[in-house]
Amino acid sequence: MDEAAWQQLESEIEALRRDIRDLQVVQEVDASELRAHLQQRYSFEDPIDLPIVVRETAEMLRRWNVHVTHPRYFGLFNPSVLEGAVIGDALVAAFNPQLAAWSHAPAAQEIERHVLRHFAALLGFDPDRTAANYTSGGAEANLTAVLAAIAKLEPDTSRGGISALSRPFGIYLTEQSHHSFVKIARMTGLGTDCLREVGMTDGLAMDPASLRERMASDRADGWRPAVVIATAGTTSAGAIDPLEELHDVATDFGAWFHVDAAWGAAAVLSPRLRPLLRGIERADSVTWDAHKWLSVPMGAGMFFCRHPEALRQAFAVSTSYMPGPTGGDTADPYAVTTQWSRRATGLKVFVALAEIGTGGYGELIEHQAHMGDELRSLLDASGWILVNDTRLPLVCFTHPRIRDGGVTTRQILDVIYRRGHVWISDVLLGGESVFRACITSYRTEEEDLAVLVEELDVALNEIAAGSPP
Ligand SMILES: *Cc1c(COP(=O)(O)O)cnc(C)c1O
Repeated sequence: MDEAAWQQLESEIEALRRDIRDLQVVQEVDASELRAHLQQRYSFEDPIDLPIVVRETAEMLRRWNVHVTHPRYFGLFNPSVLEGAVIGDALVAAFNPQLAAWSHAPAAQEIERHVLRHFAALLGFDPDRTAANYTSGGAEANLTAVLAAIAKLEPDTSRGGISALSRPFGIYLTEQSHHSFVKIARMTGLGTDCLREVGMTDGLAMDPASLRERMASDRADGWRPAVVIATAGTTSAGAIDPLEELHDVATDFGAWFHVDAAWGAAAVLSPRLRPLLRGIERADSVTWDAHKWLSVPMGAGMFFCRHPEALRQAFAVSTSYMPGPTGGDTADPYAVTTQWSRRATGLKVFVALAEIGTGGYGELIEHQAHMGDELRSLLDASGWILVNDTRLPLVCFTHPRIRDGGVTTRQILDVIYRRGHVWISDVLLGGESVFRACITSYRTEEEDLAVLVEELDVALNEIAAGSPP
């Protein structure tokens, strides 16, 4: 073992955790500067001592990176990572368990299963009747849902492909659904015409009446209304679709009901927020990303499904070179999931969960939800206008001067990014460009919210005074 390298690694990780608040969240990066640095320093001709490589790599990550683990990164669901999760991931790197076949990695396999059963129960699923697996992220979990639905509803496509579909296959979603479904439509060969857009309520949630109408009229036109995609915690505005009512509509049409709760599912860990997800327990499948609100490093998506046979239908293969099935109720992941070789993605979740417990996670979630509420009050008190309707900690807002056309969200973001003290983004909601600030770090405190509001006010005033840098 290279003691010095391990010490260097430890001190880099420790320094990052200690200093994170003092780092700029974002710095201006010029690709040519970064490339020139790499070109000049790393020709790969002479070996470099490992401790030095560790230090220099950490330096590059410090300098040329948006620090998503910063308490003032109010960003795109990318979390601060729990210490236990980082340690769990390091163990995985060292042991390198292969999760294609159960028999190659029984410990890792059963650790994952144990945690997934715990989360399945929290969702309100019966763990004994639920198939669950880790994925690279929410996009893959959503893809798995669509593939499983196709396998269940149109088994002939397993051989004949989409030309064996009995009728055009309709997937129902809204303009606010995640854009991974656009790729999924293309990857599955269904094509984006399969994406049937449904109207929304004022709160940007899917409107059950509009869903029913669209499915009925498609059916009359020869379509098979096949999959309803509800979202619990939309990416842009944190809206939660009315799951129970949408499930009723899906059931009436014999459609698969998928809940994309990539970020929002973690609300089941908070007694206060749990009721918002009522109905998720009725889903045919659920997407839930551990690498979002469960504060573990990327990538760790989770997929839950109450039709294990559909997954076997979708993914079963047999080969002579893979170890034979273990038997009993164990499943070889390569035969029931999209991936083949797979990292033990779930071990970091296990270590974090074991360390802080279900209650500890509940406290992190509640703290972040509380910070969201605080941010709404602070913004409201300084003249900003809140525009989205959710109790999850995702706040969309604008300002009278933006609505008057005096200044744009882009101009304000330019100032904010240049100063580097906070990171937020803008997003189009109902055709209007508004700010989006999400509490993604369990480390975010009131002082950080105050800095965000101050930075917004500074930017607004700087632009009004016409004093660019
Ligand atoms: C983030 C997100 C996804 C995509 O998940 P990845 O982990 O980025 O692949 C899908 N749906 C929703 C609602 C999301 O927020």
